[in-house]
Amino acid sequence: MAGHQQECEICKRVAECRAGKHPGFIAELETGFAVLGDSQQFRGYTLFLSKTPATELHQLARAARVRFIEEMTQVAEAVHNAVRPHKLNCESLGNVVHHIHWHIFPRRKTDPDPLAPVWGQMHKEGTSEYASTRLDPARDAELIETIRTELTKIRKAAPTGAAN
Ligand SMILES: [Zn+2]
Repeated sequence: MAGHQQECEICKRVAECRAGKHPGFIAELETGFAVLGDSQQFRGYTLFLSKTPATELHQLARAARVRFIEEMTQVAEAVHNAVRPHKLNCESLGNVVHHIHWHIFPRRKTDPDPLAPVWGQMHKEGTSEYASTRLDPARDAELIETIRTELTKIRKAAPTGAAN
């Protein structure tokens, strides 16, 4: 069974968020951090990183699990409202990094293969397409702000706390 890794990339990103040093930081929620993805090939790609370094969803206590899924859904809705995609892909895989995190990919009919998962259609490292779609704090500041504003609206309208 895969366990949480010593040199964990998600723990590193969570620490950057806490230190105010993550270039894609969108918002801190009760159970995790929303950050813009390193690649913006799928414009608006956002991650929701669990504060708890668990490997699998079922390892979270029920109330925390429900809260985590609720907050991930709020982040997904904010991304949807910000970029108005054709479809959203929300994925929790963790094959490489064994610390729960959600990938939220806005999908468009103009994607290289709109019917397939994003994996396999990402630009290859070292190409100009890869470089031009990397997270750029200056170019992406407005996008980050738009997602944050949408998230704030959604969270104001939503019931809070695990009991709700
Ligand atoms: Zn971790």
